[in-house]
Amino acid sequence: MSEKEPILKVRNLSVEFSLPGGGLFGAKKILKAVQNVSFDLHEGETLGIVGESGSGKSTLSRAITRLVQASGGESVWLGQDIQKMNSKQLLALRKDIQMVFQDPLASLNPRMTAGAIIAEPLLTHAPGIGKAERTARVAEMMEKVGLVPSMINRYPHEFSGGQCQRIGIARALITRPKLVVCDEAVSALDVSIRAQVINLLMDLQKELGISMLFISHDIAVVRHIAQRVLVMYLGEVVELGDAEQIVSNPQHDYTKKLIAAVPVPDPKVEMQRREVRRRMRREASAAA
Ligand code: ADP
Ligand code: MG
Repeated sequence: MSEKEPILKVRNLSVEFSLPGGGLFGAKKILKAVQNVSFDLHEGETLGIVGESGSGKSTLSRAITRLVQASGGESVWLGQDIQKMNSKQLLALRKDIQMVFQDPLASLNPRMTAGAIIAEPLLTHAPGIGKAERTARVAEMMEKVGLVPSMINRYPHEFSGGQCQRIGIARALITRPKLVVCDEAVSALDVSIRAQVINLLMDLQKELGISMLFISHDIAVVRHIAQRVLVMYLGEVVELGDAEQIVSNPQHDYTKKLIAAVPVPDPKVEMQRREVRRRMRREASAAA
């Protein structure tokens, strides 16, 4: 395989849900949740998937990895169509592609310690390793995501929201996946915590060379972390390209609306902040 070959190729992927119909005869309605979506993802790249709630982002990501049945199309992982994989191939795939979800606390089992939660994927994907080795790997991973390894026996409710999301990230990375799908992974976090978790994801990505699909309804967040962006509207791709180009020169009306919804920082406030920073720097160098 040449170096330029994408690790993931999605071609004309579609998902339909049949909804119970109303009315006298109760005819079923078909909801086209994802329609003919195509894109490539390269090694080490982050592709942002953005669109308002209900535009099909989660369904798309779940269909790619066959957590939801596609009604048509392909998702080709390292040259193999995931839609046609057998159960053994799918199990190997689950090790390579991991997910991080939105609600940090709700997505962690409250009865398991942080250590057990992070170690769990190893039981499935590396059953051969012993307990001591597993604990060592968990402690190492906790450190990597900015958690103190001495908290290994604490329960999720003893952690803050940001720390819970770090546990979720550690759990996703413990199998050393090649691709991490973050589905609204920072959307439930406070702004300052969100920035920390985004920076952590970017650092880890660089360190580990992983690829990411970063899903968010917030184009400001996506623009920060992704090199390329795919904009979804009503299940379809309306725009796909370089992140900065799409933000500075959106082609589709819907993209323009998403960008317009982002609060623009007040230039006056920004000037004051800069002045404060300058003063602090002056004072710091005077004190040195
Ligand atoms: P997003 O992640 O962008 O918010 P989703 O992929 O969750 O969007 O949903 C896309 C559309 O598919 C929505 O209209 C949603 O109601 C519908 N949908 C999602 N999952 C199901 C399901 N299991 N059954 C029926 N409809 C679904
Ligand atoms: Mg979603």
